Amino acid sequence: MSDKLDLSIVIPVFNEGENVGELYNQLNVVLSRLGKTSEIIFVDDGSIDDTLKKLKAIKDNRVKIVGFQRNYGKAAALSCGFKKSQGDFVITMDGDLQDDPKEIPRFFEKLEEYDMVSGWKSKRQDPISKTIPSKFFNALTRYITGVKIHDFNCGFKGYRNYVVNNVRLYGEFHRYIPALAHWRGYTVGEIEVEHHPRIHGKSKYGVERLFKGFLDLITVTFLNLYKKRPLHIFGGMGLLLIFSAVIINLHLVSLWLRGIRIGDRPLLMLSILITVLGAQFISLGLIGELITNSRNNDDYIIKYDSYELENGM
Ligand code: UDP
Ligand code: MG
Repeated sequence: MSDKLDLSIVIPVFNEGENVGELYNQLNVVLSRLGKTSEIIFVDDGSIDDTLKKLKAIKDNRVKIVGFQRNYGKAAALSCGFKKSQGDFVITMDGDLQDDPKEIPRFFEKLEEYDMVSGWKSKRQDPISKTIPSKFFNALTRYITGVKIHDFNCGFKGYRNYVVNNVRLYGEFHRYIPALAHWRGYTVGEIEVEHHPRIHGKSKYGVERLFKGFLDLITVTFLNLYKKRPLHIFGGMGLLLIFSAVIINLHLVSLWLRGIRIGDRPLLMLSILITVLGAQFISLGLIGELITNSRNNDDYIIKYDSYELENGM
């Protein structure tokens, strides 16, 4: 592709027709003050409103548009934006006007110190039904991944381009980019960012995200720890099970030695059965995840691509 740029801004949008025009205007003001060469990549994640039409109406050759055939989710949209980006630095933000473009220069400042900088919506302007689960979720993610930032899921983030080239997104992994980057050996910083309430359009994520997010957290952790040697984790679980069985058997033997009957303890049998089944399910799920992960998130179909139009393809 053509020349290198200083900055790529990647914005995933799904039904944000009422927001993209104003967002562009705000970005335009900030970017002209910033004095860096830049591109704004909108990835339309299969919107069914007039988002794509509104985007095409923007007359600015810094604006690049990629339109997906259908809705593949935010991680796929980001992954595509990362692939297209030509900037030395990449900034991602939400397209719903909740992230404020005027924070962009602060990301640049912090990126002098870190490979990646994550935004922290310290005064998040979303309903309590989202903020409380999110607090819990962030604490858990902090604990499990060991990455000490407050807000994993903030869409506003800045990267040096080698970071986005080296993290692979899959499923809903966009939430764990700070952890994926940290595990790759990159430094991760954080800045507090202003957050506005959503005025137009609806949030696409509800409480179900918590559950999906939790399952992804398991996968992401196991992928990091045992990617190359899956047998070690499954074998470990197997050993643990055998060990538990030995303990249970020792207990049964001690009962038997004291002359207590052990033939009528259905609860014990049930608990063993459930443990074994549970472990089986987890292992199977994980094997599936590990295999699927090798596919990664790039099997989307692009129906509109302003890059190709530009290059006369
Ligand atoms: N988004 C997307 N694909 C989706 C869902 C959301 O590209 O399947 C975009 C959405 O248009 C917005 C950003 O991701 O620009 C964040 O979504 P949203 O505002 O719904 O999430 P919230 O801020 O409520 O967590
Ligand atoms: Mg939002």
